[in-house]
Amino acid sequence: MRRAAVEQWDAGYVRVSTDIQVERDAVQNQIQALEAHALAHDLRLRLYRDEGISAKDTDRPELQRLLADARAGNVRSVLVTKLDRISRSLSDLLDLMRLFEAHDAKFVSLRDNIDTSGPVGRFMLHILGAIAELERGITAERVAEDMKLRARRRKWNGGLAPYGHRMEDGRLQIVPDEAVVLQRMRELFLQRRTWRGVAVALNREGFRTRGWQPEERDGRLVRKGHEAAEWTPTSVKRVLLQLINLGTLVYNRRRMKGKTAVARPAEEHVVVENFCEPIFTREQMDELQRIAAEVARTPARTAASPHLLSGLIECACGTKMYGIYNYVTTKRGRYRVGYYRCRRASHKGTCAAKQVPAAILERAVIEELCRLGLDRDRLAAVAGEAQATIETSLQPLIERRVDVTGELERTRDRLSSLLELAEDRLITKAEYAARKSRLETDQAGVERELANIEVEIASRAAMTIDIDETVRELRRVGDVFDSLEDVIDRRHLLATCLNRVVARPGEIELHVPAFQLLMGRDEGEEGAEKVTSWLQSAAGERAQKQPSKGQNGDKFPGGVSDRRWENYGIPERLDARVGRWYTKAVFNKNL
Ligand SMILES: [Zn+2]
Repeated sequence: MRRAAVEQWDAGYVRVSTDIQVERDAVQNQIQALEAHALAHDLRLRLYRDEGISAKDTDRPELQRLLADARAGNVRSVLVTKLDRISRSLSDLLDLMRLFEAHDAKFVSLRDNIDTSGPVGRFMLHILGAIAELERGITAERVAEDMKLRARRRKWNGGLAPYGHRMEDGRLQIVPDEAVVLQRMRELFLQRRTWRGVAVALNREGFRTRGWQPEERDGRLVRKGHEAAEWTPTSVKRVLLQLINLGTLVYNRRRMKGKTAVARPAEEHVVVENFCEPIFTREQMDELQRIAAEVARTPARTAASPHLLSGLIECACGTKMYGIYNYVTTKRGRYRVGYYRCRRASHKGTCAAKQVPAAILERAVIEELCRLGLDRDRLAAVAGEAQATIETSLQPLIERRVDVTGELERTRDRLSSLLELAEDRLITKAEYAARKSRLETDQAGVERELANIEVEIASRAAMTIDIDETVRELRRVGDVFDSLEDVIDRRHLLATCLNRVVARPGEIELHVPAFQLLMGRDEGEEGAEKVTSWLQSAAGERAQKQPSKGQNGDKFPGGVSDRRWENYGIPERLDARVGRWYTKAVFNKNL
């Protein structure tokens, strides 16, 4: 298509950064100025307006539409009233100018007397861009400094006073009623150790959160109101752990990115101790934080489960399994049998896995862990194998990195030769734009892949297996397990040396923090029947409920017969090998 056939117009870009009234008038002023200019110069003006958006980057819908039109060759010139309407960053501004230039669109800023069709205009543009950037940097810094200064001078920076306090004469003062609730909350948390438990108890005792009135300023709503509401686990946690309860103000924690708050790195926080009167002592706060950290590590619902592998056991389909008891009545009496069931199989029916008897699964796991802990050489062999597998798995990644790097270079070369083609007018602008955008998409994809590969390589290269530490932890299971009577303590012990257990037909996968083990069928004689004392004690426990069961040998504690092992496809004798599936989590010792 010939250039003349493309419809062209002059793009007027207006922008305001907030939607308050003054600025809204500013939009009208900008539009009027642009329209007057268009009339005087006989332009075909089309407006692009971004309202309530800052010019700190080019991520603005209307600007992007303008750029798309410019790339398509529709824009003859771009008009703004002031430079800072289109960009507040010098580098962005220069990029935009280059783009306009590449598509033959001239750029005019009315107030700054810039017209890029002349050399003076282009020069001015650079100078003004530099000044605009400098100015913006200084302003942002000044605002931040000012806020920090106010915080250090014990001045509240605005916003609602935190729960437990209120604003009075520019200072935060304790609200006695709310301080009482905070103390009650603390007691409850120490007793119950779950956020939900505290919320439920508080609500039951009739406590509610603080509500607040909507706030208007100059006829505009600046803050929405909020009714007093029931406590939730989240609100309890937030309020109880806030540092202001210690009298410490932490400021500059977040910044706004568009309409969402993003956390700032800790070194940018402004911490002011003794900002106001504390509600908790340092010791009370330390204790709360310690327990909160423990709670965060415990999977919520499994905390109180009577099943040993709750929270650890997964189905082959990747879903967590849960423990359940079935009650069986026979001639000899009524007793209960524990099973693990796939949550997906029983709730959604989209997994075909059968329930697995707890006695079989638990015994297999414990036995295997104990055996591993006793046999350092075997463990070392397995770990060596795992380490080798890590290294082998690195090789294809390294090769892929070479390929991808080459691909990236080729894409870059093609982009620059495309530009040469366009400069020599060997291809049309539209063709150039289309091919460029395709190449840029490719390039972005390749760059992403390269970044992923780098991360993967770095994380695998960092993995080493500490055999002695693993042995120590596994031996602890053997030594201590029997002495623990409570299933919850036993589960905690298991959690120190197991990340997860996956039950598959025919094999059980044990994810020891250092590496992954796979239990499969073993035809050999070794590792013959060796019921641990734990099993005997477990059997004893259950025997109380099932009369005259004892150590029959042919029956499992809980009444599951030996034969049924086969039915569930679980190997009777187990052999630890390195598993076939590796994931980062499996190898990461810190998990
Ligand atoms: Zn499943």
